Amino acid sequence: MTVVADLHTHTNVSCHAYSTLQENCRAAAERKLYAIAVTNHAPAMKDGAHIWHFSGMRNIPRRIDGVYLLRGAEVNILNENGDIDIDEVRIKYLDYVIASLHEDVFKPTTSKAHTKAFENVLKNPYVNTLGHLGNGAYPFDYERIISQCNKYNKIVEINNHSFTVREGSSKNCREIALLCKQYQVPIVLTTDAHISFEIGICDYSIALVQEIGYPEELILNTDLNRLRDYFLKMKGLDIFL
Ligand SMILES: [Zn+2]
Ligand SMILES: [Zn+2]
Repeated sequence: MTVVADLHTHTNVSCHAYSTLQENCRAAAERKLYAIAVTNHAPAMKDGAHIWHFSGMRNIPRRIDGVYLLRGAEVNILNENGDIDIDEVRIKYLDYVIASLHEDVFKPTTSKAHTKAFENVLKNPYVNTLGHLGNGAYPFDYERIISQCNKYNKIVEINNHSFTVREGSSKNCREIALLCKQYQVPIVLTTDAHISFEIGICDYSIALVQEIGYPEELILNTDLNRLRDYFLKMKGLDIFL
């Protein structure tokens, strides 16, 4: 199993990421990826990109080194109401939005509060994907959220970075993936790369979905036609053009 696109990547617009967009594209091309989503942190994070970064993304070519660029963001969930840190005027021009809880912005609190935050984010039509749900700092009612993902057209990502940097994630990601399988929720396997060397390498995520026998037709980024169909359906965007 291999991924055809990496849908969670960061560039050095944040100083805790270390590669330029062009370096990321070169790495993606070397690994034979068709596409990457550029998903930098939104402004509420101390080290997030300025809001202009997101509105200016339309100036980036659609392809660099032959790699298709999806214009994205990793927005911060700000509070229990599920508010996020890119306004509606700007976010609607993005192709792909991940919503995540980050300690820098949303101080970990109770499982009830985290669940409420995710439940409200589910209702946001501009959010495509719930980011790194396995983070042990944010326990929540997994089943309550996963069971509603299809109702709101939300994807769950199995974030490769989580297995190495977020404590408790391996066990949590497995539990989340099993629930996604039970509720037939589409997933993506992503790297959350903060440097070009990580682009496209999803070994831990792939091992997990293989171990639990995840139905491949529900993994959006291991097949180019599935990926194309998703963006056509959600955004009217044809990534083959
Ligand atoms: Zn994140
Ligand atoms: Zn990230």
